[in-house]
Amino acid sequence: MSFEDIPVDVGVVYEGERVRGKDMYVELGGPKMEQKFELALAREMGDIEDEKVTVIGPDLKDMEEGSYHPFGILIEVAGKEIEPDLEGVIERRIHEYVNFVEGMMHLNQRYDIWIRLNKRSFEKGFNTFEFLGKVLVRLFKSEMNIIEKIQVTFFTDPEKIAERYDEAINRYNERDARARGLSDPDVDTFYGCSLCQSFAPTHICVITPQRYANCGAISWFDGRAAARVDPKGPLYAISKGDTIDEFSGEYTGVNQISAEKSLGKVTSVALYSAFDKPHTSCGCFEAIAFVIPEVDGLGVVHRDFKGETVNGLPFSSMADSTAGGRQVPGFHGLSIEYMRSPRFLQVDGGYDRVVWMPDSVKQRIYEFMPEDIRDKIPTENDVMTIGDLKTFLKEKNHPVVERWVEIEEDETALAEVSDTGDYVSVPGEMTAMVGGIGGGLEIIFKNAKIYAEKVIIRKTGKGGKKK
Ligand code: SF4
Repeated sequence: MSFEDIPVDVGVVYEGERVRGKDMYVELGGPKMEQKFELALAREMGDIEDEKVTVIGPDLKDMEEGSYHPFGILIEVAGKEIEPDLEGVIERRIHEYVNFVEGMMHLNQRYDIWIRLNKRSFEKGFNTFEFLGKVLVRLFKSEMNIIEKIQVTFFTDPEKIAERYDEAINRYNERDARARGLSDPDVDTFYGCSLCQSFAPTHICVITPQRYANCGAISWFDGRAAARVDPKGPLYAISKGDTIDEFSGEYTGVNQISAEKSLGKVTSVALYSAFDKPHTSCGCFEAIAFVIPEVDGLGVVHRDFKGETVNGLPFSSMADSTAGGRQVPGFHGLSIEYMRSPRFLQVDGGYDRVVWMPDSVKQRIYEFMPEDIRDKIPTENDVMTIGDLKTFLKEKNHPVVERWVEIEEDETALAEVSDTGDYVSVPGEMTAMVGGIGGGLEIIFKNAKIYAEKVIIRKTGKGGKKK
């Protein structure tokens, strides 16, 4: 495959390259744009013109340096083996292939894409989407030989994007709804995805009928279709093996493949917990479930939420603590579709443990939440401080309030143990975050016995000044 006619390099070496604001020539999609999308559609052979690239709206050379634009990418593919179940997987490859282009950065997926081109690549002559189209056509055809014909259309005209936007959203919804008819015990095979290992080397997504991929772009059906046509590709079958614990979602087959793909870093995964052996998080998650220790609950925030959440931190700060392919108890990357699953964080209490989420997320999943909890979970329209959150939860008699009584009783018991001068035992595993939520240090105690004459916990103000 040759890219000699492309004015910049193209290759896997550029994957993971970041384009900072000061180096950016243009930004396409991203948080400043309301409507953006990328969509792959399966077509009949006669319906598309092979290798045709079309730009609808201003091209790169018409855009001012430092400017922001709405953006859409439509990839239409045809071939004997092409079926609609492959659309999600083909669409997800756009992320990988755009990132192969020197000086281009692609983040997120579907309705959330965020792309930047840097100044250096523009100056080298990468000044038209035609080049990007050619790169996509060649990479798709060489990497996915089931694609016999491909046509690429870029949209930068806001009116044309608006016309196509609803079609894209409807298509995503149809794909998501399809997987809802199945449950994990109905199948003996899950699917794994390693596409994000270039960013998070120890991460794989385990995709089951009831746990959608973290990026929200790949369902169990998508995984099955991809593994069938390309079993050695980045999406592969995972035999469930023996069930260690059906409720927490721990299986020998999942543990085995996690250990293998993470080179021994991740050896056990409980698919349905944010605290105990949680599924790893790369960086592409649509949302984060984050612990709010003051109320022993979990908040959820999605990528598009602007500003601070109820704990005073924005999505971006918590994303740093969550990402990287680690298992971070209490900071858990997930997709919005997983929030519609009946097994959503069921080990931790499911929705009975969720104490805050943005209004726009609540609207999207409202009908999937248990009826008796829906109105007990506040949004930014109800509370924005921990103090107000506590009051709200108490007033609404949120189930998490019962846990406060248990904790208070436990604390009293511990205080009694300390008064005797004896030790405090920490059975199993306990994690302490140092430096506040999202702080940089984590200390794990395993089966520890801690002796202390006195324990002092000081509250610190801004700049670390002790109060
Ligand atoms: S988030 Fe998961 S499923 Fe999505 S591309 Fe990354 S590894 Fe694959």
